[in-house]
Amino acid sequence: MSHTVTQLIYLVASVLFILGLKWLSSPATAVKGNRISGVGMLIAIVVTLLDQAIVTYQVIIAGLVVGSALGLWMAKAVKMTSMPQMVALLNGLGGGASLLVGGAEFLRSELVNEQLPLDTSITMQLSLLIGAVTLTGSLVAWAKLQEVMTGKPIIYPGQKALNALMFLAVVGLSVYQVSVPESLLWPFYAVLVISLLLGVTLVIPIGGADMPVVISLLNSYSGIAAAMTGFVIRNEVLIIAGALVGSSGIILSQIMCKAMNRSLANVLFGAFGATGGGSTKTAEGLTVRQTSADDAAVQLAYAKSVIVVPGYGLAVAQAQHIVREMADLIEKKGGEVKYAIHPVAGRMPGHMNVLLAEANVPYDKLFDMDQINAEFERTDVCLVIGANDVVNPASRTDPGSPIYGMPILNADKAHSIIVLKRGMGAGFAGIENELFYNPKTAMLFGDAKGSLQKVVTELKAL
Ligand code: NDP
Repeated sequence: MSHTVTQLIYLVASVLFILGLKWLSSPATAVKGNRISGVGMLIAIVVTLLDQAIVTYQVIIAGLVVGSALGLWMAKAVKMTSMPQMVALLNGLGGGASLLVGGAEFLRSELVNEQLPLDTSITMQLSLLIGAVTLTGSLVAWAKLQEVMTGKPIIYPGQKALNALMFLAVVGLSVYQVSVPESLLWPFYAVLVISLLLGVTLVIPIGGADMPVVISLLNSYSGIAAAMTGFVIRNEVLIIAGALVGSSGIILSQIMCKAMNRSLANVLFGAFGATGGGSTKTAEGLTVRQTSADDAAVQLAYAKSVIVVPGYGLAVAQAQHIVREMADLIEKKGGEVKYAIHPVAGRMPGHMNVLLAEANVPYDKLFDMDQINAEFERTDVCLVIGANDVVNPASRTDPGSPIYGMPILNADKAHSIIVLKRGMGAGFAGIENELFYNPKTAMLFGDAKGSLQKVVTELKAL
């Protein structure tokens, strides 16, 4: 295949990636976006295979079969609530792949005594450094989320100084490596080892609600590492795809930081939750009002306006279908139901949108925090389903709270609030929630799906 034809097909694949990303940004077009990006990737892979005979086709086919089978199994087996861990693992593998390609290219040049051009040397060092940090950083993030190791920040004296020292060391060694005429093995291995360590030491002090931002950032790193590898092996579509992943990951990290009212630097170096937030608020002396499914159903049947606030517990209970059924029944009785979506509700970006889309909740009933927050005070009933941190007023009132400053959904401003959860368990941030003790709030204890099932049965009978 001629070089021009290959380049043209790569261009088509890249346009499909960009279109896919554009469509992925709205729930209405997301499925189409996912498919079109997949087609782009298939085209890119087929052309790369036809264009270059790097390894034998038997090896490639064996790799494809094993990789696809593993991917299919992972996608089917992973629980929706374990998605962040899986994304972390995949990011790590992406970083590891870049590290291997960059490293292999270096060792090849060393073996044949080839003098690499300066740009290749620089990008190779970068693919090594970023790939290694992404690999071990993602593995630590996976272990934290999977609870294989503590999810709390691990901090020790002189941590930042040590990280800074290691970073300067890899930069210094990399500069040395690219500036000496011959390729040297010792700086190569030194950069490799220090970068692998740096991935671990950079991620261990991060914990709590900051983990999603870290995963998104590592996703971005895996893209940047891939783009660097693209320069090393002169593959344009890898450069473009890597740049797209790198930039979209950074944008997502920024959006999530904004949603939590934190700066990226604060997330990375702030050791969130290391001291338990310093919040002194406890529930001592406060009482909780309980309600029953029957009473909740009556209240909902006569409400003119209802806002549903879904959270992580909705995903755990898999209650999305029954929520939809309940909303349909309320609307039949003349009430209006809207859904308020907090940007970090659940355990991954867009978690609630995905769940509710699965139950065919119409997109025009889903509202972002900024769109709906002013409406709570005019709302009869706010139904909080398995959400906790995203409706915790401590973010406004308790400067000692780890979520202080994070914008929340104004559930407490509604005329009355019904909270569905199993007990008084804390949310991801591990803190008390005053909303549950608010005189306007009634708690409906139990698994969200079971409770909603009872509410639906009552609504049908009314
Ligand atoms: P939270 O984690 O704050 O709270 C979830 C609540 O759901 C718990 O308090 C729990 O209470 C309840 N729950 C659990 N299982 C069930 C069930 N089967 N039925 C009913 N309730 C249940 O969730 P939010 O969505 O409010 O907030 C998300 C948090 O996660 C934020 O702190 C965010 O920063 C963080 N995060 C977000 C990510 C993202 O990308 N969206 C990724 C990782 C973390 P109980 O045990 O009493 O039932």
